[in-house]
Amino acid sequence: MKKIEMIVPCYNESDVLEMFYKEVTPVMQSLEGLDYYFIFVNDGSKDNTLEILKSFAEKDSHVKYISFSRNFGKESAMLAGLKNSTADLVGILDADLQHSPTLIPEMVKAVTEEGYDVAAAKRSDRKGESGFKSFLSNAFYKVANKMTEVSIDPGAQDFRIMKRKVVLSIVSIAEHNRFTKGIFSFVGFNTKWFAHENRERAAGETKWSLFKLLRYALDGILGFSNVPLRFSFWSGALFFAFGFIYGLIFVIRRLIEHGRLISVNIMIAMLFVIGGLVLICLGIIGEYLARIYTEVKNRPNYIIDETNINE
Ligand code: UDP
Ligand code: MG
Repeated sequence: MKKIEMIVPCYNESDVLEMFYKEVTPVMQSLEGLDYYFIFVNDGSKDNTLEILKSFAEKDSHVKYISFSRNFGKESAMLAGLKNSTADLVGILDADLQHSPTLIPEMVKAVTEEGYDVAAAKRSDRKGESGFKSFLSNAFYKVANKMTEVSIDPGAQDFRIMKRKVVLSIVSIAEHNRFTKGIFSFVGFNTKWFAHENRERAAGETKWSLFKLLRYALDGILGFSNVPLRFSFWSGALFFAFGFIYGLIFVIRRLIEHGRLISVNIMIAMLFVIGGLVLICLGIIGEYLARIYTEVKNRPNYIIDETNINE
């Protein structure tokens, strides 16, 4: 019989796991002709998420878990799940029930019967999210899609079910700074999109601070675009041209009018502008350099403390 595995990244989700398990299990059981498994990835939770996962595993052989030695982030949790998956179909699902499990049967049908390679959810609204967060997120997708060679749908979620070949191609990408949404889009494949209403988190609270989200956005742009690096060159060229013409005009006017034209204020302003620009460019190079540095160090994306896979 064919198998399906659902990867569930969990970071401090003890409030919601029971609810998740009770709601998703019947959905998975209802899938005909498919043997189902959960791969819960405990991403270094500080509450008793791991104990709850172990108690599930004790009474239910459909539950596999991987537990990290510390918090490595959702991207790493998804990667660990994908790397340890063996099934013909592999899905990813948040633990907080924001990804409505009722979509799973239709998504499975899309990949088993309708000839799609990926069934992915995208949200149709941003209900329950602050206006500021929606604004930032929309701005990010506009900029990212202009600057990078991959195009990411603004509503695209990590919630998806894919065939083994898609999983293999995702896992074969050896990057460390993983921006999974970009990677999903990069590998391509025939995707069916499912509109999905944003559900409220069933319990617990969001694990993403504004700062974490900004870092995530930066990873997305820098990981898939070299445009920021080119910014230094073009702004430098612009300023050089400006300075050259400015100087030329000064020399010519001096020759014609024999007057004093230097304004100290303008000089000071120019110093600030140019100084600022040089620092910005250095900062951009620094961001890329930092990424090259982490790639070269070749450290693992995560460290597994314990797991019941292969037991
Ligand atoms: N998550 C994780 N590691 C982290 C942060 C989040 O594994 O460092 C998991 C979390 O447990 C949840 C999913 O990623 O299952 C989405 O997180 P969350 O619901 O906090 O994000 P939001 O829905 O607010 O974007
Ligand atoms: Mg959530």
